Amino acid sequence: MNPILGPSDRVFVLTGAGISAESGIPTFRGVGGLWRGHRIEEVATPGAFASDPALVWAFYSERRRRASGARPNPGHEALARLERALGEHYFLCTQNVDSLHETAGSRRIAHMHGRLDQSRCSRLGCPTEPFDDANAYPGVEVIPRCARCGALVRPHICWFGETPFELERILTELEACTVCLVAGTSGVVEPAASFVRMAGARGARTLYVGPEEPANAGAFQEVRLGPSGVVLPEVVSSWLGTRGGRPDSERI
Ligand code: NAD
Repeated sequence: MNPILGPSDRVFVLTGAGISAESGIPTFRGVGGLWRGHRIEEVATPGAFASDPALVWAFYSERRRRASGARPNPGHEALARLERALGEHYFLCTQNVDSLHETAGSRRIAHMHGRLDQSRCSRLGCPTEPFDDANAYPGVEVIPRCARCGALVRPHICWFGETPFELERILTELEACTVCLVAGTSGVVEPAASFVRMAGARGARTLYVGPEEPANAGAFQEVRLGPSGVVLPEVVSSWLGTRGGRPDSERI
């Protein structure tokens, strides 16, 4: 892949749970997909919330606690540096629900699977907007209810079987990109797993970064194996031509 980005390049980045692994937030697949003996799919569905909201909130309360103590790693920081250099020629789509990209400085970002630090009304069609909420709800009696309609409040997360958020904006950015960089995702969760094929079909250069080959490795022009906290800083430095210490504020 051409090591230096040019002024007409537009970079689309897709990240998955792996980019936060070095910050101490475990991936699902990496830990066998189990939580307190439950398959993740059993606690991350609308059906699970309908039948046992306390169990679902216990799962997300634990994840909130864990994420609130985590710090961004050099992978998050490298992507924030890339955004500062490229400005509007950069876009980040993350499948992650933590906020480590934002803490590192990312601003042009879409959370297609929602955000751990937000909640919303569980009633479909209720106009109440998602709201910031870092609380833990350890029992069914403390789960708040929507002020407008009285339904239980749920995590603002895209559960299995639900439609991801901001797809229109994401696909617009994907169509415009000349470079598609994917990091830390297994390449099996749709629709994100298809993004690389869509970008490649339009002539974009494509690169995967992570410790193991993703399921869709064949769709990438290049796969760089290694932890994203190590490989992404190298990739960003080579793309920006910064090995000699180019300042973050400089635009290419
Ligand atoms: P996934 O399918 O993206 O798989 C995790 C990937 O991370 C694997 O391919 C693994 O090789 C890779 N990985 C492990 N260590 C890495 C490292 N140091 N650097 C780069 N890559 C590394 O994700 P999943 O865990 O199966 O989760 C499915 C969904 O659940 C996600 O899309 C997300 O919505 C949610 N989730 C979010 C978080 C988070 O926000 N941090 C964590 C777990 C799960």
